Amino acid sequence: MSKEALVEEFGISNLKSLCFPYSVVHMIVVVGFPSKSGECAPCFGFRSVIISQIIFYFILEDFVFYWGHRTLHTKWLYKHVHSIHHEYATPFGLTSEYAHPAEILFLGFATVVGPALTGPHLFTLWLWMILRVLETVEAHSGYHFPWSPSNFLPLYGGADFHDYHHRVLYTKSGNYASTFVYMDWLFGTDKGYRKLKAVEEVEGKNY
Ligand SMILES: [Zn+2]
Ligand SMILES: [Zn+2]
Repeated sequence: MSKEALVEEFGISNLKSLCFPYSVVHMIVVVGFPSKSGECAPCFGFRSVIISQIIFYFILEDFVFYWGHRTLHTKWLYKHVHSIHHEYATPFGLTSEYAHPAEILFLGFATVVGPALTGPHLFTLWLWMILRVLETVEAHSGYHFPWSPSNFLPLYGGADFHDYHHRVLYTKSGNYASTFVYMDWLFGTDKGYRKLKAVEEVEGKNY
């Protein structure tokens, strides 16, 4: 592969150079999911770009959502904006989109910032939107099935994780991240949830 092709492949020759973390994800995907024997080069390129963009969007969305959501749990914003979403202490799928319009705009930024930085193919953009909606509906479903994604995907939060956030009727309930668990772990906002999990394990209960 020529130097120019490598530079283009890893997406650091254009707008993406503004987005070094995306290039890192892309490199990991190219190395981790190598070209299959007989796969055409454009097919491999298209597949690796789609996978790396989607992974990058999930990571970036989770990061931005965490801080935005945590901000919404400050006194004034919670009272006037975010409390609408928290009307449901035991959420179900549809409640994932039940929120103050200002919150939709505010947290919606987390969903669009990844595509805005990387300029994806329309197919990738639609795929991302579909996966993001499925993710939030699952997180609000109230069900933790044996086939739930959190049983298979490492660091994935899921319904149990977000259910705790809604169940605790307190503005500093924790579990603010949308998709993964590591942001709350890193910033110590999952202590209540971890404590509950430890108690459940000792008592052999599964609420
Ligand atoms: Zn909340
Ligand atoms: Zn929620």
